[in-house]
Parts: sequence; structure tokens; C-alpha cells
Amino acid sequence: MALVKFFHRNMLRSIRRSSCFTSQAACSTSSSVGTAESSDNKESTESLNESTTWDPLKIEELLRAQSAKDMPVEMPNPYEEERVQCILCKYKIHLDYKNPRLLSQFISPYTGRTYGRHITRLCRRQQEILEIEIGKSRDAGYMAIMMKSVQFLKDPKLFDPNDPDRPHNY
Ligand SMILES: [Zn+2]
Repeated sequence: MALVKFFHRNMLRSIRRSSCFTSQAACSTSSSVGTAESSDNKESTESLNESTTWDPLKIEELLRAQSAKDMPVEMPNPYEEERVQCILCKYKIHLDYKNPRLLSQFISPYTGRTYGRHITRLCRRQQEILEIEIGKSRDAGYMAIMMKSVQFLKDPKLFDPNDPDRPHNY
């Protein structure tokens, strides 16, 4: 009896190692033998039968894996236009009322007024922040009110006041 068991186990192993999908007949014969054997052998033959049946989920997975190389490739749009950003957003510059040198770059040296958005080319949010911070800076005494501070007159310009987006009266 023990010898038969040993032989049967060896046969099962050899079947598993070889292609299980093609050896349907061999599996059926082994299961017929297995019915005569003990319970542990029955379990092993049942698992073998499960692996040989055509599981639709497994087939779908296989097909998906095979067709993966034919699927469209994920890539960014090469024709996408570059997003236009204002100079402060582009370089992530934080406006602060304690930095009068930076704020003075947005002020006219002739009138002391803040340049409009059509000259500074800032986004609405940054222009709003700029005007608030200039007000705070003037209240705190960091910036002159009627003019641009003399020491900042030779600072490089962030924009050309003579090249506005739209014409103006002054
Ligand atoms: Zn911006």
C-alpha cells in the first residue's frame, strides 16, 4: 500500500512538472486512481484538476498581459502650449513689506506711483499682494510715499515701462 502511495505521489509530481494543460487524460486517470487512495491524495488531485480547468479570469489576465505591448503609450502632449506665468509666480518670489528694495522695482521713479498690471505683467493675485505690501511698507516707514528711494534708482528693471500691454494716458 505504501509503495503504491509513493508511486502515485511521484507520478503527480511528474505531471505537475510537465504541461498540466495538455495532459487532461493523464490527470483524469490519476484522479481515478486517487479515488481509491487516501484523503490527502484526493486533495492533491482536486487541486490538480482545478489548475487544469479553464478559468475565465486567468485567461483574461493572460490576454491582457499579451496585448499590453500593443496598447497606446502614456506620454505628455508634445503640442501643449507653455503656461504663461508672471515673473513672481515663475521664480516663486514672496513679496514682503520688509523688503522695500524689491517693492521699489514696481514703482515709477518719476511719480512714485505703483505701475499698473499692463506694465508689470503680474497676475491679478500678485498685483493685489504687491499693492497691499507697498501700502504696509509705507505705513511702516520702510518706503517713501511720494517718490522712489534714491539708493534703489539704479536697480535693474524687471519690465520696460515704455512697452505696456495697452496704451495709457500718462
Ligand atoms: Zn502670478
